[in-house]
Amino acid sequence: MTPPPRARRLAAAATVAFAVLLGAAGCTRDAGTSTSADRGADAGARAVAAPGPVAAAPAAARPANLLLVTVDTLRADHLGFDGYARDTSPRLDALAREGTWFRRCYTQSSTTGASHATLFSSLPPQRHGVFANKQRFPSGIPSLIGELRGHGYATAGFASSVVVGRKFGLQDVFEHFDDEFTTMELNRVARGERPAADTVLAVEKWIASVPPDKPFFAWMHLIDPHGPYAAPENPDRYVGDALDGRIGARFPIGTDDFQPGHIPRYQVLDGRTDADYYVARYDAEIRYADGQLGRLFDFLRERGLDRDTLVVITSDHGETLAEPGHRLLFSHGNIAYEETSRVPLVVREPQGAKRLAAVPQDSPVGLVDLAPTVLGLLGFEAPAGFEGRDVLRRPHAPGDPMFTWGAYGTKRLEDEIGTQFSVREGELRYLRNSADGRPELYDHRDDPAEARDVAAAREADVGRLGELVSKEFSSSSAPAPMKTMTPDHVEALKALGYVE
Ligand SMILES: [Zn+2]
Repeated sequence: MTPPPRARRLAAAATVAFAVLLGAAGCTRDAGTSTSADRGADAGARAVAAPGPVAAAPAAARPANLLLVTVDTLRADHLGFDGYARDTSPRLDALAREGTWFRRCYTQSSTTGASHATLFSSLPPQRHGVFANKQRFPSGIPSLIGELRGHGYATAGFASSVVVGRKFGLQDVFEHFDDEFTTMELNRVARGERPAADTVLAVEKWIASVPPDKPFFAWMHLIDPHGPYAAPENPDRYVGDALDGRIGARFPIGTDDFQPGHIPRYQVLDGRTDADYYVARYDAEIRYADGQLGRLFDFLRERGLDRDTLVVITSDHGETLAEPGHRLLFSHGNIAYEETSRVPLVVREPQGAKRLAAVPQDSPVGLVDLAPTVLGLLGFEAPAGFEGRDVLRRPHAPGDPMFTWGAYGTKRLEDEIGTQFSVREGELRYLRNSADGRPELYDHRDDPAEARDVAAAREADVGRLGELVSKEFSSSSAPAPMKTMTPDHVEALKALGYVE
């Protein structure tokens, strides 16, 4: 199939958003406070009592809708509400003001498939067994999708990249699955993808088709900020602005996609070697995705759905741009430093509620916690088997460890860099690199960029966190041969066609 011209990407606007409609479901834990659930119940009672077409009783009686959006490769610190200097996210900033955002949300994997598997199953990669792209979502395990289907939701998934497309297997879990790619990636033309505008249109069309008496769960995946950084609209909008030149470094172009210290081949734009240019282009992708998300938010409002929909926006992992010493440039996958581990999380609850605002700001949350937290907000219990927690009922303590597995499954990367086993604990980040066993330690109190490795001077912290990491990542209960990330296993998976 010939891909449509890139101009097609300009034709429509879309936004990815993960929204849940929170309806009349009551939560006893919120007794004594005015909650959306209370107001939803009130509204439901009024609707039932009122005669005539205004009643809309079925809609009022059902639980809220859920819109869940994963914007692939979206760094939290490049968003306005998170303090970024560029105006990359006016619509998400507004959503964050209306809802709650979490400044310490961490992914459990810096690889797309593994991270999404965690998001839906509430299991870390070392338990669900997906650590690399081209593996399938495990069948037969409890998931957010299956739970909501069981509660009568219409469910649909919309993928914008092959990595979470049909080969990933979510079409076996969602009732409706859409991975109709409308274009091809700029520098890897064999890879189908879909710009946000097209994905948003597909989501809108599906939502419009859901019977009004049925709650819906729509998962929308957007790929735009993922490299190569070629936004369909105004890609050079930040080039030459006040922030341009802040890095001031140039890097050689790599011979492939995985060469440390080099610009990956697939990321190369016009032969440019200046890091600032790539960062500006990355930011323009974020701004584009934000605008399309805004269109989806507008759609929900125009349809009268926004107050009955729980909207959750997050990302599967961030992106290393040009952080000194962080091995790869403009990449993720094997890299589990702060910039790939910390992801945005914005939640807008139905009916204007802000119950999540009660979660302390210094309390970390993992993507593994998202499914039980969302189910709780909708008034449902999490199934046995979910390892994450409902952070509204049981927030993490500020010092609870957040583990991230940096693996990609490509032999080239395993040989060169290895897997990074990483943990953020309070103000410390510890990483161990499988290729050489070398630990790294960073202290966010005076080094938020993780630029100064203090492992050599902090023996006690290194020992303690090293033990913590060993325990966590050796406790895998995943089916063989996915238990560990040794090169042998990578080779085995390669033979099976699971990994590149
Ligand atoms: Zn991804």
